[in-house]
Amino acid sequence: MSGCIFCRIASKEVPSTIVWEDERAVAFRDANPKAPLHVLVVPRQHIVDLRAAAEEDEPLLGHLMWVAAQVAKQEGVSETGFRVVVNAGPNAGQSVDHLHVHLLGGRALGWPPG
Ligand code: AMP
Repeated sequence: MSGCIFCRIASKEVPSTIVWEDERAVAFRDANPKAPLHVLVVPRQHIVDLRAAAEEDEPLLGHLMWVAAQVAKQEGVSETGFRVVVNAGPNAGQSVDHLHVHLLGGRALGWPPG
């Protein structure tokens, strides 16, 4: 989708610090990190959010999780642990309408989230 910031990052039209890319997904550093490691894993395909994912997107959703785990290993937070978060809709505070998985690590994370 031409106006979507994450589509533009995935196509490299907008610069970002990409830490992983493959044919289905791109992972890049969050511009406003909430933890020492804060990476966003996004599908190249424009899906607005988790609520909009179709049954046929199920393998892609699994791939995003797998990529998050690979990036956690690559970035050295796998052994100490990390969190993945998917915000969907207003009550979750979703601010970008392109499905994204937050990968957070590098410090102890509080629970429950705010
Ligand atoms: P959410 O609130 O779950 O929709 O998360 C959106 C995330 O995207 C926030 O953590 C933002 O800091 C991040 N973000 C927004 N624009 C950019 C950008 N151009 N590059 C990297 N991260 C971004």
